[in-house]
Amino acid sequence: MKIYNSLTKSKQEFVPIHEGKVGMYVCGPTVYNYIHIGNARPMIVFDTVRRYLEYKGYEVNYVSNFTDVDDKIIKKANEEGVEPSVISERYIAECQKDMEALNVREATHHPKATEEIPEMIQMISDLIEKGHAYEVNGTVYYRVRSFPGYGKLSKKNLDEMQSGHRDILVAGESEKEDPMDFVLWKPKKEGEPFWPSPWSDGRPGWHIECSVMSKKYVGDTLDIHAGGEDLIFPHHENEIAQSEAANDAPFSKYWMHNAFLNIDNKKMSKSAGNFFTVREIGEKFPLSVLRFFMLSVHYRSPLNFSDTLVQAAKNGLDRILTAVDRAEELVEQLAQKPQTEERPEEQGYREQMKALVAKYEAAMDDDFNTADAIAAIFELVKLANITITGESSYSYAKELLDEIVQLCDILGIETKREEELLDADIEALIEERQQARKEKNFARADAIRDELLEKGIVLKDTREGVKWSKA
Ligand code: AMP
Ligand code: ZN
Repeated sequence: MKIYNSLTKSKQEFVPIHEGKVGMYVCGPTVYNYIHIGNARPMIVFDTVRRYLEYKGYEVNYVSNFTDVDDKIIKKANEEGVEPSVISERYIAECQKDMEALNVREATHHPKATEEIPEMIQMISDLIEKGHAYEVNGTVYYRVRSFPGYGKLSKKNLDEMQSGHRDILVAGESEKEDPMDFVLWKPKKEGEPFWPSPWSDGRPGWHIECSVMSKKYVGDTLDIHAGGEDLIFPHHENEIAQSEAANDAPFSKYWMHNAFLNIDNKKMSKSAGNFFTVREIGEKFPLSVLRFFMLSVHYRSPLNFSDTLVQAAKNGLDRILTAVDRAEELVEQLAQKPQTEERPEEQGYREQMKALVAKYEAAMDDDFNTADAIAAIFELVKLANITITGESSYSYAKELLDEIVQLCDILGIETKREEELLDADIEALIEERQQARKEKNFARADAIRDELLEKGIVLKDTREGVKWSKA
């Protein structure tokens, strides 16, 4: 399996540090508002990477943080007149709802920055002790010149950068030794949340948070560190400088970065105001469509968002779901019939199926080319539409159906069209039926019973009341 490593700018064979195991850290969102569909791109992409790694047999420790202390969170809290934690907790909960709706699996760990402050203070102290950081008036800065590898991810050269940053010195940051030095700890301002530290009552800088959370939940060296490409500089470059200087170990073997989700060829972003939230899109399309749309191009290619393109994705996904529905129905019928021998031509069909599964895997093995993987699914769907019939052998039909369902599942695409009835919905319908009977509206009462029966729910009227079970 090959992964494009942003650090070496080349596709490399994936070899994890510990055989059979993958430790992976994905930079998560800053929680001050609903997430927009640009933020959803890394979530969907790296959830798919995780699912495929698991399909290949790896045990994946998937860690993704919430940045829950930040200027934007504080600003929003001040606007609403509440504590910043009210804002961050609210939007973590909302973000988790969106992730569930996008079928993004829960991470192994979802650390929150505010819960890891002692470890951050520890790492900053270590960096000071090793000469990589210094304190001025309660602020701690990272000394970029102390880290020889600075710029290795972003391929930036410190001297070139410095000439472009003379203005910063003029802007009053002259307490820094070097304009490129960045903040590890900053003193509180009036009305801001703070934690005590050896340097000042204050809070950590954004970059140190990820160095600490990835160390704690994955280890000194990660197999994969991922995020959107806007994070390469300065965020990931600074994470490398901090972690490698503090841990004396390489920080991450592979770096993966997704390209942007654009609108009119411009990056979708909150600050530019050209964004749609996941919630908004969820009102227009099932979110499985958004997920399918995101995976319909390679994660390193920019993706332009438009209603027309999402509608095209919806049509494509419908084609798959319709084929699965049809195949499921036939497989169910075939299961009722006396089992027949496999038909001679089914040998050939099975070969075609295997070749298409191999095509899917080859695409995913090639730096997670989900676009080509989806093309292989479409070919499998076509094969199913042609070769699964009322005359098929059960074993062949079931095998092909299961294969399609599994390959969709790796992409996080659920093939069940109908939502299962929730227990609460069932209880509500039973209640309504009781009411209808009381009012002698037997037609309505029977209609409800039939509706439930159609969904596999059997009602039994007993002396203790109505009991229900799943057929
Ligand atoms: P933020 O909350 O801005 O820190 O972003 C959280 C994640 O979403 C980061 O990995 C960003 O790189 C990513 N991201 C933000 N905007 C976009 C976009 N338009 N397209 C793709 N990824 C994005
Ligand atoms: Zn990060």
